[in-house]
Amino acid sequence: MSRFAVAILAMALLVAVPADAAKKRDSATVELKGQLLAHITELSDDSYEGREPGTEGEAKTLRYLGKQWFDIGLESGTNNPAHAWFSPVTLVAREPDGNRAAFTRRGKRLFLLPGSTLVLTSGKRSLIENAPVLFVGKGAVIPTRAELAGRVALLLDGAEEGSVRQNALLEAGASAVLTVLDDPDQTLENIAARRARKGYALASEELGGDLEAYITAPGLDRLLAPGGQSTASLRALAEAPGFAPRPLDLAATLEATTSETRINTHNMIGKLAGRKPDGKAVLLLAHWDHFGRCVPPPAEDQICNGAIDNASGLAVLTEVARRLAKGPPMDRDVYFLATTAEELGLLGAHAFAENPPVPLDQILAAFNIDSVALGPAGQPFAVVGKGMTRIDPAIAAVAKAQKKKLTGGEALNTYVRRQDGWALMQHDVPAVMISSSWSDIARVEAFMEGDYHRASDGLKPGIELGGAADDVLFLVALTRWFADPKKVPAAAK
Ligand SMILES: [Zn+2]
Repeated sequence: MSRFAVAILAMALLVAVPADAAKKRDSATVELKGQLLAHITELSDDSYEGREPGTEGEAKTLRYLGKQWFDIGLESGTNNPAHAWFSPVTLVAREPDGNRAAFTRRGKRLFLLPGSTLVLTSGKRSLIENAPVLFVGKGAVIPTRAELAGRVALLLDGAEEGSVRQNALLEAGASAVLTVLDDPDQTLENIAARRARKGYALASEELGGDLEAYITAPGLDRLLAPGGQSTASLRALAEAPGFAPRPLDLAATLEATTSETRINTHNMIGKLAGRKPDGKAVLLLAHWDHFGRCVPPPAEDQICNGAIDNASGLAVLTEVARRLAKGPPMDRDVYFLATTAEELGLLGAHAFAENPPVPLDQILAAFNIDSVALGPAGQPFAVVGKGMTRIDPAIAAVAKAQKKKLTGGEALNTYVRRQDGWALMQHDVPAVMISSSWSDIARVEAFMEGDYHRASDGLKPGIELGGAADDVLFLVALTRWFADPKKVPAAAK
């Protein structure tokens, strides 16, 4: 949207202002909506190229947010003078690189049909040489650790249960699992395509070394023919009553490598220092990243701008910070965190939890803000994570004091694992997402099925900001409550 259009919208919002008492409140709301719109307009602009970690779009995003937060009066919240404001996070993107399979029978190399195998690893490079092959049928009975150690388990494809069986065999001690693809829906091509997508992780995460191999039924037939067996005869064995895993007269050499690309990215952390700090803290967070250039040419719109997801959350976070900074000073420290790599698996939030600026058990409450700007003003507030933390009673008390209605429960909690608060919950930080945009599950689902994670999540004329403005005011009240030792005593948590 152009600046001119923003001005028109702001003027439209100014129309119909009632007299005196409500007048001040309404003009404050208009101002707030204008501020939210300005942030969303800026951060979802094409020049940010979809805010992808490690790109110029990241630099631009953090420059913009950093200036906003500095001007509002925040200070660096990293508590690390070597990295003021920006806390480095190293990611790795992994994708399958090379792979190789070879088979022998009594030391003699067997002919392998070209293109009949695929080997994948969860590690950087994994190799197993001349390992005896143990036929485990459909994997209904998992052999003992002694039977599996140093062996390749040959598994008949059980369609959707296949990967469950593979994992069970690897966990039980198999050196590798070789799955026979004799389900027509399962081809080497579609397994390779599914795995060719990059997998992302924190560079600090330890690598596995599992070997996962596949062979087509015709490929296996060729290997078994000299011993008078076939895929069909193995299947008959597996389906006979009393089947027990049995060694085959085969040995396998399997190797796979993974290529790694390192990505240097950052969490941004600001702070409003408390007037009477008692070591406890309140945390507000929103992810700054999105998918970058997500649609290949020749599509006209190639950029996933992430206006709702999550320029809207950054806008709300920033305006909460402004109002907290302007109002009376709070006793406790309040941290503001813009996370990286949420879209790649909550990785920035995990990195924050691994290396926090304040001990995690000192955080009394964390409020995540993700994909707001969906609903109009005056809606009840949803609590994603309701019933999962110890702070429900305090949230209810704030809602009562603010005359706000709360919703939440199981339908909403299906989203709890898909937001940054989940990474903090793993460390027992009471983290919830509170937004009026999330109280109407039909509206949330319509977004998920529509613009969510698509290039169409750009700034639209007439974007609904009523609910987001409500969110700002409620989050300000919630933060002030938890930052006040009279409201939330330190010992009670
Ligand atoms: Zn997202």
